[in-house]
Amino acid sequence: MLEHSHHYFNQAADILALDGKMREILLRPNRVVKVAIVEEDDDGHLMHYTAYRVQHNAARGPFKGGLRFHPSMDEDHAAALASLMSWKTAVVDVPFGGGKGGINCNPREMSRFETERVTRSFVEQTKEIIGPTIDIPAPDVNTNSDVMAWIMDEYSKHCGFSPGVVTGKPVHLFGSEGREEATGRGVMYALDEALKSMGKPLKGTTVAIQGFGNVGSHAARLLAEQGALIVAVADHLGGVKKDDGLDIPALFEYAQEHRTVTGFPGGDSIENTEIIGWDAEALIPAALEDAITADNADEVRAKIIVEAANSPSTPEADEILLKRDVLVVPDILANAGGVTVSYFEWTQNIQRYRWEYEQVIQELEKFMRRAYKNVAKVAGERSCNLRTAAYLLAIQRVGQAVLSRRSIHEDIKLT
Ligand code: NAD
Repeated sequence: MLEHSHHYFNQAADILALDGKMREILLRPNRVVKVAIVEEDDDGHLMHYTAYRVQHNAARGPFKGGLRFHPSMDEDHAAALASLMSWKTAVVDVPFGGGKGGINCNPREMSRFETERVTRSFVEQTKEIIGPTIDIPAPDVNTNSDVMAWIMDEYSKHCGFSPGVVTGKPVHLFGSEGREEATGRGVMYALDEALKSMGKPLKGTTVAIQGFGNVGSHAARLLAEQGALIVAVADHLGGVKKDDGLDIPALFEYAQEHRTVTGFPGGDSIENTEIIGWDAEALIPAALEDAITADNADEVRAKIIVEAANSPSTPEADEILLKRDVLVVPDILANAGGVTVSYFEWTQNIQRYRWEYEQVIQELEKFMRRAYKNVAKVAGERSCNLRTAAYLLAIQRVGQAVLSRRSIHEDIKLT
C-alpha cells in the first residue's frame, strides 16, 4: 500500500522538480511506533495483538489521523495511511500534520468489553506520543465514538482532563455536532462539485456505493436527501439494488439492526463484487483499499468515482480509469470532510466552546468546496488530473512549512 502512495507522491514531485533532500524529508515518516497489546479476553485467555502508530509529518501542525481496528492492519498500512493524512490535511488546509494507526484485531469477533480493554491498553502504551498538541487520533474502520470516549477517558486518567486528545467523541462528551456524518457529507459536496464541472445536477444522478459503514451510509443518506438515486449498495457480506433508488432511511435502520445490508427487503440481492461495475453515473468506494484494481477497472461503468475510502484504487487502475475518461475525485480531497470537522471539534475542545450543527455544516461546506475548486484550478493550470493536482498542492504546502521551520543555513529548498 505504501508503494501506491509513494507512486502518486513521486508523480507529482517529478512535475514540481522537487528538491532531492525535500523529497526524502517528505517521504519518510517522523516516527513509527509498534507496541504489543496483551490482555485477557472474557474467558480469561490471553489476547495478543500488535498496535501501530505512524506519525508522518507535523510541519503544518500536530499529527492527525484515524485509528483502525482490522486484521490487515500493519506497519505498511499505517505508514501509507499516515502519509495520505499529511497530504489530505494540506489539501483541505486544516492546521494538522498526518498520522495513522491501529490494531491488527477483529472487533467483529470481540465483545464490547474486550474491545474496550484493548483500546485502553493501546492508550496506556502510547500516552507519551499522543495528546492534544502532539497527535490526535479519530475514528476509522471499525472504530467509533465509543472507542474515542475510552481513549479520552484513559488518556485523561494519566495526563489530566484532555478532551482534545481525540476527535469523533460522542456529542455529549465533548464531541462535535455533525462529526459522525462529516466524511459522508464531504463526499456529497465533492460529488456535487464533480457533477457541476460536467454541467450536471446532483438531483436524479444515479449512484452505487461500496461500503455502508460510517462513511458510506451517511453519504448515501445525504445524497438521497438531495435527490440522488442510490441504485446499489454493497458491504463485506453482499449487496442490494433497486433501479429507481433504494429507500435509504429504511436501509439505514435495517443495517443498524442486522449489521449488514444483505437481506434488506426493499431491494434485490446482488453479489458484493458486482458493485464496482454497477450501471450508475457515479461510483463511491467507501470500504477498504484496493477495491478498484487492474482486474476490474475496465468493468467500471460510472463516469465519476468519488474516493470516499482511503486508497481504493491502485495506480494501475487509476491509469486505466484516466484513459477511459472517468473523472476520479481522489481520496485526499474526497474524504477530507471527516478531518475538517475533526479540526472543528478540536478547536471547540481547546476553546471550551460549542458550535451549533448549522455552523459546523456551513463551515464544512465552505472548506470542501474551496478545496475542490483549488484542486480543480491546479489541474487546469497544469493540465493534469485531480489526483496529481491535489498532490501538487499538498506537497507545496507541506514543503513550504518544512522549509520555514528549518534553519536558513541548511541547503534545502522546495524545487
Ligand atoms: P466502517 O468500519 O464504518 O465501514 C466499513 C464498511 O466497508 C462496512 O460497511 C463494511 O461492511 C464494508 N466493507 C468491508 N469490506 C468490504 C468489501 N470487500 N466489499 C464491500 N464492502 C466492504 O469504516 P468507515 O469509517 O466508514 O471507513 C470506510 C473508509 O473510509 C476507510 O477507507 C476509511 O479509512 C475511510 N475514511 C473514513 C473516515 C471516517 O471519518 N470514518 C474519514 C476519512 C476516510
